[in-house]
Amino acid sequence: MFDVTFSALLSAVLAAVPAGAGVHTVPILMYHMLGNAPDDAGDHDCMGKGSCRRRADHCPVPGGGVSGPGMVVAYDEFKWQMEYLRSHGWRGRTLDEIFSARPDLRPRDVVITFDDGYADNFEAFGLLREHEMKAVLFMVSDNADCQGRLSAEQLREMDAGGFRVEDHSKTHNDRFTLGTEAEQTEEYGASKKALEALLGRPVEFAAYPYGKYNVATPAVMRSLGYKASFIIGGRVADVDGDRQLVPRFRVSDRAGFLYALCEGLSAAAGKKASNCAAP
Ligand SMILES: [Zn+2]
Repeated sequence: MFDVTFSALLSAVLAAVPAGAGVHTVPILMYHMLGNAPDDAGDHDCMGKGSCRRRADHCPVPGGGVSGPGMVVAYDEFKWQMEYLRSHGWRGRTLDEIFSARPDLRPRDVVITFDDGYADNFEAFGLLREHEMKAVLFMVSDNADCQGRLSAEQLREMDAGGFRVEDHSKTHNDRFTLGTEAEQTEEYGASKKALEALLGRPVEFAAYPYGKYNVATPAVMRSLGYKASFIIGGRVADVDGDRQLVPRFRVSDRAGFLYALCEGLSAAAGKKASNCAAP
């Protein structure tokens, strides 16, 4: 019943959208982990099997960061969402496409992003490919090859396969990301350099850990050469807006997912206020 109501609302909004003319907004979805992914336990069960990834000092504590609200979306729910996008004609875009000189944005464009680089994101990659959806991974550069996180090899494979890897700082630590201008320059400069070496291409987009930044941050990012940087914000992104403070929607359940799409269509139709029901 919810779907019927939502479809009716989408049809009403879409009727008001001139076909692709002058769209400069896009909803950006933010995910972290997938729960109960097929090999969810994989990297956590490696002790004693000789298959554990390195445990260098910079690696996060295994399982760390899992407990925050809205951090985990069930694998089956994510699968439903990707099926929904594809069957309703949505296109998953990359940031290079969205922030190009000629972005060619359409009302049913969306950017799917994941933060931090958890190992289960490799399952998301499989689903995204199956549904021909491009996406973006904001990677903490120090976490590559750590237990419970993606390996350098996986990151390269994902990047080449349309799950574009971008920057999410070196350490994910407020001590540096919210530090002085010099500290932030060192933190984001180091992750940019590490990811560029890993991927063999320029890295020009970053998401701030926890969506947090301070008065120095936007200028630091501009001077390091970032074309755009991302916060949380819970609003539709406007490519003509402040590019160092681009908002995203946190998706933790189906209602939040549908709300972001509804807001996206509403903004594409040029509406100042939407009729979308907040989750
Ligand atoms: Zn993060």
